[in-house]
Amino acid sequence: MGNLKHYYETLKNGDVFFDEYRKSALIMNAVTILHVVFAIFFWATGVTIMGVYNVAIVAAYQGILMLIKKKKTYLAYVLTCIEVVVHAVLATLFVGFSSGFQVYCVAMIAVSCYITFVWECFKKGTRETLLFSLFSMFGYFVCYVLSLYCEPIKPVHEIAQTIMYIVNALFMFIIIFCFMMLLFWDINHRSDRLAAKNSQLDEMSKKDPLTKLYNRRYMNYELNRRMSYLIGEGRLFGLIMADIDNFKNVNDTYGHDAGDDVLIAVANEFTKALRGDDCVCRWGGEEFLVVINGNHQVTSDVAERIRKRVEDLTIDTNGHQLKVTMTFGVSESIPGLRMERLIQIADERLYKGKQDGKNCVVNE
Ligand code: GH3
Ligand code: MG
Ligand code: MG
Repeated sequence: MGNLKHYYETLKNGDVFFDEYRKSALIMNAVTILHVVFAIFFWATGVTIMGVYNVAIVAAYQGILMLIKKKKTYLAYVLTCIEVVVHAVLATLFVGFSSGFQVYCVAMIAVSCYITFVWECFKKGTRETLLFSLFSMFGYFVCYVLSLYCEPIKPVHEIAQTIMYIVNALFMFIIIFCFMMLLFWDINHRSDRLAAKNSQLDEMSKKDPLTKLYNRRYMNYELNRRMSYLIGEGRLFGLIMADIDNFKNVNDTYGHDAGDDVLIAVANEFTKALRGDDCVCRWGGEEFLVVINGNHQVTSDVAERIRKRVEDLTIDTNGHQLKVTMTFGVSESIPGLRMERLIQIADERLYKGKQDGKNCVVNE
């Protein structure tokens, strides 16, 4: 009971993916229950041989489940298909086509679609789906042809036969419905997982793993976007090229890990200082490029704000308290100038700042 509740919750939430064995166990248990129903039915109607046969089949399905456990899933499903067809043929021989046991051959097509899609051993092969479906069709027509030439060995009462037909047809619809739902559930779950993986990969392709800022590749895309806004709508933007001063000393004195901590801490200051429509990236080793939505004055003010934040920052690393400064070069978007040139201007101003004594903003 607890198990059933767990299965239901898992299906409903769709957050835990059933492994192959649990799915197969569920299916095999359902098939076993079906054969128990058949066994009772045949005993009750006096078709003892079919009753015994169904009891044997219930035991056989435990063997099939063992095969699945041992990862012999391909063989397990082939045996299941053979069993379904053999049962349909025998039941037709004993109680006639009108009892409707051949309908499980039809239901088997839906089961085969699901199994060949879900079980790894079939590798989602449509060839197997076709082969199993053809085999199901073959089973159905064998039953039909047999019914044309052979009288039922153990004919049952007309009412019992009608009940059998209705029950079998009902089971057929339930099986087809359930397996189609399971197939859709599985497809949906897989596509959700794929979408989540894609957005994760998309995020990874845009970000620098150390600082979690955008990387240079994404920034190039962002810069092109800003350029097209400038050309199309005249929307101004500014660039800030920033570089940590004497960063090599940090690495040399406190080690590379301490250097990494400084990079992370500085990156956080950029993120905190900027507004949502501004964009910052790690342009190179200890260089950051920022694109600001605004004119030259706004961009210079932002650069000064970040400079101050970094200057005031104390970074705890490996028991040391580090202080760093940064130098900034600012350029403005001038219609007609290519992006490469704007970056170059910011870079030249940054270089000038380094020459002038560092820890400053140069905007002309
Ligand atoms: P300046 O003030 O002129 O910019 O001097 P600087 O020492 O900051 O510049 P320099 O170009 O001489 O050294 C930059 C150093 O940054 C060298 C390199 O090892 C270090 N670096 C680059 N990327 C990383 C990184 O991801 N982690 C760490 N820890 N260090 C890095
Ligand atoms: Mg530097
Ligand atoms: Mg540098």
